[in-house]
Amino acid sequence: MKQLIKNFTIDETELFFASIGEKAYRARQLYAWMYGKNVATFDEMSNYSKSLRALLKQKCVVSPLICEDRQTSQIDGTEKFLFKTYDGHYIESVLLKNDFNDTGRLTICISSQIGCQMGCTFCHTARIPFIRNLETAEILDQINQVRRLSGLSNNNIVFMGMGEPFMNYNNVIKAATIMNYTFGFHLSVRKITISTCGILPRIEQFIEEEHLFNLAVSLNDTSSEKRSVSMPINRKYPLEKLADLFNKKMPKAHNRLTLEYVLRKDNISKDDAKRLKKLFKYSRIKLNLIPLNCSTDNTARPSDEEIESFIKELEILNIPITVRKSLGSDIDGACGQLSGKKYSDSL
Ligand code: SF4
Repeated sequence: MKQLIKNFTIDETELFFASIGEKAYRARQLYAWMYGKNVATFDEMSNYSKSLRALLKQKCVVSPLICEDRQTSQIDGTEKFLFKTYDGHYIESVLLKNDFNDTGRLTICISSQIGCQMGCTFCHTARIPFIRNLETAEILDQINQVRRLSGLSNNNIVFMGMGEPFMNYNNVIKAATIMNYTFGFHLSVRKITISTCGILPRIEQFIEEEHLFNLAVSLNDTSSEKRSVSMPINRKYPLEKLADLFNKKMPKAHNRLTLEYVLRKDNISKDDAKRLKKLFKYSRIKLNLIPLNCSTDNTARPSDEEIESFIKELEILNIPITVRKSLGSDIDGACGQLSGKKYSDSL
């Protein structure tokens, strides 16, 4: 099988070129073509000789994903892309451009796994079979493809698509590192957010390795008993231990921490606000409230009035609070709705 060349860091790319008798500077040239000029084939790399291009084509692939479908929301212009992987599976990425005029932010939400094993009850991805982790090249190629197809250059990345990023820790960190290279996509570490449902050992590793990417944790309940139902991972890594880790270790890491909180009718009481205050002491926290998109028999989305009154209760936390608009809901592109079209018919 051919190698996915975007799996390589710059050092690994230099080693690869050395292995075929080429100079190290070829690696920087390759990065400039792949990430700067965003070309999809070796044929377009005009400063390589014909024979080098032929050799590279024989050994490697630049763009491992094939775009099979593209949908645009009639409500807010959000675009969802369906990609087929080299082994015939499907993942989705979303381009969120609604707040570009207000904030200048253009975000791509990317996937890190085909399926997910975490079983969160509010999430469509949890309802499809888990296949495998995405390779670094497949994570990066989502950005290449969305940029190429949309003609837009994003400046923000969130790992909030299909899959649990910290169950694919090495490939995700490697991809985020390549995104940050000046000769990669050159995205600021502060514009790359990795979201986890709370894989405690990997969060600890992330803090200890001193990565500067933004960290987001999907919280969604304030009592362990209820969180264990909506997010089964809580049985293994309970809420209290998560909060304890952040309170003790985050001040040294200085990372910004975002708590993601999907709003349901049954998790927005005054007591929830009080418990949140008691749990989290770290000062660089922001709370991101997300009205439920994926209702089940047991859960329902609260009304606007109920959300407003919960926000009032949360004032005791004295931290920034945002309510995420539900984007692309008419194309199943909103938070918790990604599943890969080919699987979703059975949902
Ligand atoms: S919310 Fe995230 S971690 Fe939970 S099942 Fe969905 S993709 Fe997996």
